[in-house]
Amino acid sequence: MINQAFIEKAKELGFIAIGFSKPDTPIYFDFFLNWLKEVEIGDVAYLKRNIDFRRNPKRLLDGLNTIISLAYPYPASKPSTPDGYTASRYSTPTEEDYHIRLRRSGKQLCKFINDIFPESHSRVFVDSGPILERSFAVTSGIGFIGKNNMLIVPGHGSYCFLAEIFTTAQFPVPSFKETGNMCGSCTECIDNCPTGALKAPFYIDVCKCLSYLTIESKDDIDKLTAGKMGNTFFGCDVCQEVCPFNRSNLPVVSIPSTDTILGMTELDFKRTFGKTAFERTGREKLKKNIKVLLT
Ligand code: SF4
Repeated sequence: MINQAFIEKAKELGFIAIGFSKPDTPIYFDFFLNWLKEVEIGDVAYLKRNIDFRRNPKRLLDGLNTIISLAYPYPASKPSTPDGYTASRYSTPTEEDYHIRLRRSGKQLCKFINDIFPESHSRVFVDSGPILERSFAVTSGIGFIGKNNMLIVPGHGSYCFLAEIFTTAQFPVPSFKETGNMCGSCTECIDNCPTGALKAPFYIDVCKCLSYLTIESKDDIDKLTAGKMGNTFFGCDVCQEVCPFNRSNLPVVSIPSTDTILGMTELDFKRTFGKTAFERTGREKLKKNIKVLLT
Protein backbone atom coordinates (compact mmCIF):
# COMPACT_ATOMS: atom_id res chain seq x y z
CA MET A 1 0.00 0.00 0.00
CA ILE A 2 2.69 2.50 1.05
CA ASN A 3 4.93 1.24 -1.73
CA GLN A 4 2.13 1.62 -4.26
CA ALA A 5 1.43 5.21 -3.16
CA PHE A 6 5.11 6.01 -3.58
CA ILE A 7 5.22 4.33 -7.00
CA GLU A 8 2.21 6.36 -8.18
CA LYS A 9 3.87 9.58 -7.03
CA ALA A 10 7.14 8.66 -8.78
CA LYS A 11 5.28 7.84 -11.98
CA GLU A 12 3.58 11.25 -11.86
CA LEU A 13 7.10 12.72 -11.92
CA GLY A 14 8.03 10.68 -15.00
CA PHE A 15 9.87 7.67 -13.56
CA ILE A 16 9.02 4.47 -15.39
CA ALA A 17 10.35 1.79 -13.05
CA ILE A 18 10.54 1.94 -9.27
CA GLY A 19 11.72 -0.79 -6.91
CA PHE A 20 12.69 -1.31 -3.26
CA SER A 21 15.60 -3.24 -1.83
CA LYS A 22 17.38 -3.80 1.47
CA PRO A 23 20.70 -2.07 2.16
CA ASP A 24 22.75 -5.26 1.96
CA THR A 25 26.07 -5.79 0.21
CA PRO A 26 25.30 -5.32 -3.52
CA ILE A 27 24.89 -8.62 -5.36
CA TYR A 28 27.57 -7.81 -7.94
CA PHE A 29 30.07 -6.42 -5.45
CA ASP A 30 32.56 -9.32 -5.85
CA PHE A 31 32.31 -9.12 -9.63
CA PHE A 32 33.02 -5.38 -9.41
CA LEU A 33 36.09 -5.96 -7.21
CA ASN A 34 37.52 -8.58 -9.57
CA TRP A 35 36.88 -6.34 -12.57
CA LEU A 36 38.67 -3.45 -10.81
CA LYS A 37 41.72 -5.66 -10.25
CA GLU A 38 41.92 -6.63 -13.91
CA VAL A 39 41.26 -3.48 -15.93
CA GLU A 40 42.91 -0.12 -16.51
CA ILE A 41 40.44 2.59 -15.51
CA GLY A 42 42.30 5.69 -16.71
CA ASP A 43 40.68 8.94 -15.64
CA VAL A 44 37.83 7.26 -13.74
CA ALA A 45 40.11 6.28 -10.86
CA TYR A 46 37.37 7.46 -8.49
CA LEU A 47 35.90 3.99 -8.98
CA LYS A 48 38.70 2.66 -6.80
CA ARG A 49 37.92 5.04 -3.97
CA ASN A 50 35.37 4.49 -1.20
CA ILE A 51 35.25 0.76 -1.76
CA ASP A 52 33.87 0.22 1.73
CA PHE A 53 30.97 2.59 0.98
CA ARG A 54 30.24 0.54 -2.14
CA ARG A 55 30.28 -2.66 -0.07
CA ASN A 56 28.21 -1.25 2.78
CA PRO A 57 25.56 1.30 1.69
CA LYS A 58 24.60 1.88 5.34
CA ARG A 59 27.73 4.01 5.60
CA LEU A 60 26.05 6.60 3.35
CA LEU A 61 23.10 7.25 5.66
CA ASP A 62 22.79 6.56 9.40
CA GLY A 63 19.83 4.28 10.04
CA LEU A 64 19.38 3.37 6.38
CA ASN A 65 16.50 0.93 5.99
CA THR A 66 15.42 1.03 2.35
CA ILE A 67 17.06 1.72 -0.99
CA ILE A 68 14.66 2.86 -3.70
CA SER A 69 15.84 2.48 -7.31
CA LEU A 70 14.30 4.72 -9.94
CA ALA A 71 14.57 4.64 -13.74
CA TYR A 72 13.79 7.72 -15.82
CA PRO A 73 13.57 7.46 -19.63
CA TYR A 74 15.52 9.43 -22.20
CA PRO A 75 14.57 9.71 -25.87
CA ALA A 76 15.18 6.88 -28.34
CA SER A 77 16.26 9.52 -30.92
CA LYS A 78 19.88 10.52 -31.12
CA PRO A 79 20.49 14.31 -30.97
CA SER A 80 22.06 15.51 -34.22
CA THR A 81 23.61 18.65 -35.71
CA PRO A 82 22.13 19.89 -39.01
CA ASP A 83 25.29 18.60 -40.72
CA GLY A 84 24.72 15.06 -39.44
CA TYR A 85 27.01 14.72 -36.40
CA THR A 86 25.47 13.13 -33.34
CA ALA A 87 25.74 12.84 -29.57
CA SER A 88 24.62 10.06 -27.24
CA ARG A 89 20.94 10.04 -26.44
CA TYR A 90 21.57 10.62 -22.72
CA SER A 91 23.16 14.01 -23.47
CA THR A 92 19.62 15.45 -24.05
CA PRO A 93 21.19 18.79 -25.14
CA THR A 94 17.94 20.73 -25.29
CA GLU A 95 17.21 20.00 -21.65
CA GLU A 96 18.72 20.83 -18.32
CA ASP A 97 21.42 18.36 -17.24
CA TYR A 98 19.62 15.23 -16.09
CA HIS A 99 21.57 15.23 -12.80
CA ILE A 100 19.81 18.45 -11.85
CA ARG A 101 16.38 17.38 -13.13
CA LEU A 102 16.40 14.00 -11.43
CA ARG A 103 17.76 15.37 -8.19
CA ARG A 104 14.89 17.87 -8.12
CA SER A 105 12.32 15.10 -8.68
CA GLY A 106 14.10 12.91 -6.13
CA LYS A 107 13.81 15.65 -3.53
CA GLN A 108 10.08 15.87 -4.17
CA LEU A 109 9.91 12.14 -3.51
CA CYS A 110 11.91 12.57 -0.30
CA LYS A 111 9.33 15.11 0.84
CA PHE A 112 6.59 12.63 -0.03
CA ILE A 113 8.34 10.01 2.14
CA ASN A 114 8.74 12.49 4.96
CA ASP A 115 5.02 13.28 4.89
CA ILE A 116 4.28 9.58 5.46
CA PHE A 117 7.20 8.87 7.80
CA PRO A 118 7.74 12.19 9.64
CA GLU A 119 10.77 10.92 11.57
CA SER A 120 12.56 9.68 8.47
CA HIS A 121 15.66 11.01 6.73
CA SER A 122 16.34 10.47 3.04
CA ARG A 123 19.09 11.18 0.51
CA VAL A 124 18.90 11.35 -3.29
CA PHE A 125 21.73 10.10 -5.49
CA VAL A 126 22.08 10.75 -9.21
CA ASP A 127 25.54 9.44 -10.16
CA SER A 128 26.64 11.23 -7.02
CA GLY A 129 27.69 8.57 -4.54
CA PRO A 130 29.86 5.44 -4.35
CA ILE A 131 26.94 3.13 -5.06
CA LEU A 132 26.71 0.02 -7.23
CA GLU A 133 23.42 1.30 -8.53
CA ARG A 134 22.72 -1.41 -11.09
CA SER A 135 23.08 -4.08 -8.38
CA PHE A 136 20.34 -2.42 -6.34
CA ALA A 137 18.21 -1.86 -9.44
CA VAL A 138 18.37 -5.61 -10.06
CA THR A 139 17.58 -6.63 -6.48
CA SER A 140 14.71 -4.13 -6.44
CA GLY A 141 13.26 -6.02 -9.39
CA ILE A 142 13.18 -3.22 -11.98
CA GLY A 143 15.42 -4.91 -14.53
CA PHE A 144 18.44 -7.04 -15.35
CA ILE A 145 21.97 -6.27 -16.48
CA GLY A 146 22.54 -6.97 -20.18
CA LYS A 147 25.78 -8.31 -21.63
CA ASN A 148 26.49 -4.65 -22.56
CA ASN A 149 26.55 -3.80 -18.81
CA MET A 150 23.47 -1.61 -19.07
CA LEU A 151 20.42 -2.00 -16.88
CA ILE A 152 17.61 -3.23 -19.13
CA VAL A 153 14.07 -2.54 -17.98
CA PRO A 154 11.81 -5.17 -19.55
CA GLY A 155 9.22 -3.49 -21.79
CA HIS A 156 11.33 -0.34 -22.06
CA GLY A 157 14.96 -1.24 -22.70
CA SER A 158 18.09 0.52 -21.52
CA TYR A 159 17.46 4.12 -22.59
CA CYS A 160 17.01 5.35 -19.04
CA PHE A 161 18.85 7.21 -16.30
CA LEU A 162 19.10 5.69 -12.85
CA ALA A 163 18.67 7.43 -9.51
CA GLU A 164 18.41 6.19 -5.94
CA ILE A 165 16.76 7.33 -2.76
CA PHE A 166 18.32 6.09 0.46
CA THR A 167 15.89 6.41 3.35
CA THR A 168 15.58 5.50 6.99
CA ALA A 169 11.86 4.89 6.32
CA GLN A 170 10.98 1.22 6.57
CA PHE A 171 9.23 0.34 3.30
CA PRO A 172 8.14 -3.27 2.87
CA VAL A 173 10.73 -4.92 0.60
CA PRO A 174 9.48 -7.80 -1.54
CA SER A 175 11.83 -10.80 -1.45
CA PHE A 176 14.27 -10.78 -4.34
CA LYS A 177 13.53 -13.30 -7.06
CA GLU A 178 16.52 -13.91 -9.27
CA THR A 179 15.26 -13.61 -12.86
CA GLY A 180 18.74 -13.73 -14.30
CA ASN A 181 19.97 -12.27 -17.53
CA MET A 182 17.47 -12.32 -20.41
CA CYS A 183 19.91 -11.83 -23.30
CA GLY A 184 19.82 -15.50 -24.23
CA SER A 185 22.28 -16.36 -27.00
CA CYS A 186 22.38 -12.77 -28.35
CA THR A 187 25.85 -11.17 -28.56
CA GLU A 188 24.99 -8.18 -30.78
CA CYS A 189 26.47 -5.59 -28.41
CA ILE A 190 29.77 -7.45 -28.13
CA ASP A 191 29.98 -8.15 -31.87
CA ASN A 192 29.24 -4.53 -32.81
CA CYS A 193 31.24 -2.58 -30.22
CA PRO A 194 33.31 -0.26 -32.47
CA THR A 195 36.52 -0.50 -30.44
CA GLY A 196 36.25 -3.98 -28.92
CA ALA A 197 35.79 -2.40 -25.49
CA LEU A 198 33.09 -4.94 -24.69
CA LYS A 199 35.53 -7.82 -24.51
CA ALA A 200 33.13 -10.41 -23.16
CA PRO A 201 29.65 -10.49 -21.64
CA PHE A 202 29.43 -7.98 -18.75
CA TYR A 203 33.11 -7.10 -19.17
CA ILE A 204 34.14 -3.67 -20.40
CA ASP A 205 37.62 -2.33 -21.02
CA VAL A 206 36.90 1.26 -19.95
CA CYS A 207 39.94 2.78 -21.64
CA LYS A 208 38.73 1.57 -25.03
CA CYS A 209 35.11 2.66 -24.58
CA LEU A 210 34.16 5.62 -26.82
CA SER A 211 31.88 7.03 -24.12
CA TYR A 212 34.84 7.21 -21.76
CA LEU A 213 37.22 8.55 -24.42
CA THR A 214 34.88 11.31 -25.64
CA ILE A 215 33.46 12.38 -22.27
CA GLU A 216 35.68 11.56 -19.31
CA SER A 217 39.20 10.98 -20.61
CA LYS A 218 41.59 13.91 -20.39
CA ASP A 219 43.65 12.55 -23.30
CA ASP A 220 43.15 13.58 -26.91
CA ILE A 221 41.60 11.03 -29.23
CA ASP A 222 44.03 9.44 -31.68
CA LYS A 223 43.33 9.02 -35.40
CA LEU A 224 42.80 5.27 -35.15
CA THR A 225 40.09 5.71 -32.51
CA ALA A 226 38.55 8.65 -34.42
CA GLY A 227 38.02 6.29 -37.34
CA LYS A 228 35.79 4.17 -35.10
CA MET A 229 33.56 6.98 -33.85
CA GLY A 230 31.28 7.06 -36.89
CA ASN A 231 29.74 10.55 -36.74
CA THR A 232 29.26 10.68 -32.95
CA PHE A 233 31.36 13.28 -31.13
CA PHE A 234 29.96 12.76 -27.62
CA GLY A 235 29.47 9.24 -26.26
CA CYS A 236 28.64 6.29 -28.49
CA ASP A 237 25.39 4.28 -27.91
CA VAL A 238 26.19 1.46 -30.39
CA CYS A 239 25.87 -1.29 -27.74
CA GLN A 240 22.38 0.02 -27.01
CA GLU A 241 21.34 0.69 -30.62
CA VAL A 242 21.90 -2.92 -31.64
CA CYS A 243 20.13 -4.32 -28.57
CA PRO A 244 16.81 -5.97 -29.40
CA PHE A 245 15.38 -4.67 -26.12
CA ASN A 246 15.67 -1.09 -27.48
CA ARG A 247 13.83 0.68 -30.23
CA SER A 248 16.07 3.37 -31.77
CA ASN A 249 14.33 6.22 -33.58
CA LEU A 250 15.83 8.38 -36.32
CA PRO A 251 18.19 11.19 -35.20
CA VAL A 252 16.57 14.54 -34.42
CA VAL A 253 18.33 17.81 -35.21
CA SER A 254 18.69 19.51 -31.84
CA ILE A 255 22.34 20.62 -31.70
CA PRO A 256 23.88 23.61 -33.53
CA SER A 257 26.10 22.79 -36.52
CA THR A 258 29.67 21.67 -35.97
CA ASP A 259 30.84 24.98 -37.50
CA THR A 260 28.82 26.89 -34.94
CA ILE A 261 30.16 24.81 -32.04
CA LEU A 262 33.73 25.18 -33.24
CA GLY A 263 33.26 28.96 -33.39
CA MET A 264 31.81 29.24 -29.87
CA THR A 265 33.50 31.39 -27.29
CA GLU A 266 33.31 30.26 -23.66
CA LEU A 267 30.38 32.64 -23.20
CA ASP A 268 28.54 31.28 -26.27
CA PHE A 269 29.09 27.74 -24.98
CA LYS A 270 27.75 28.63 -21.56
CA ARG A 271 24.70 30.33 -23.07
CA THR A 272 23.92 27.36 -25.32
CA PHE A 273 24.97 24.37 -23.24
CA GLY A 274 25.60 25.83 -19.78
CA LYS A 275 22.86 23.84 -18.10
CA THR A 276 23.17 20.68 -20.18
CA ALA A 277 25.20 17.49 -19.86
CA PHE A 278 27.72 18.90 -22.41
CA GLU A 279 28.84 21.43 -19.80
CA ARG A 280 30.46 18.72 -17.67
CA THR A 281 32.66 17.64 -20.56
CA GLY A 282 33.38 21.24 -21.48
CA ARG A 283 33.89 23.31 -24.60
CA GLU A 284 37.51 22.38 -25.27
CA LYS A 285 36.94 18.63 -25.12
CA LEU A 286 33.82 18.86 -27.27
CA LYS A 287 35.67 20.92 -29.88
CA LYS A 288 38.57 18.47 -29.92
CA ASN A 289 36.17 15.56 -30.42
CA ILE A 290 34.54 17.34 -33.36
CA LYS A 291 37.86 18.35 -34.93
CA VAL A 292 39.19 14.81 -34.81
CA LEU A 293 36.05 13.63 -36.65
CA LEU A 294 36.30 16.35 -39.29
CA THR A 295 39.98 15.88 -40.14
S1 SF4 B 1 22.56 -6.59 -27.50
FE1 SF4 B 1 21.95 -8.70 -27.00
S2 SF4 B 1 23.56 -9.42 -25.62
FE2 SF4 B 1 23.74 -7.21 -25.69
S3 SF4 B 1 22.54 -6.47 -23.95
FE3 SF4 B 1 21.15 -6.48 -25.72
S4 SF4 B 1 20.15 -8.50 -25.67
FE4 SF4 B 1 21.93 -8.61 -24.30
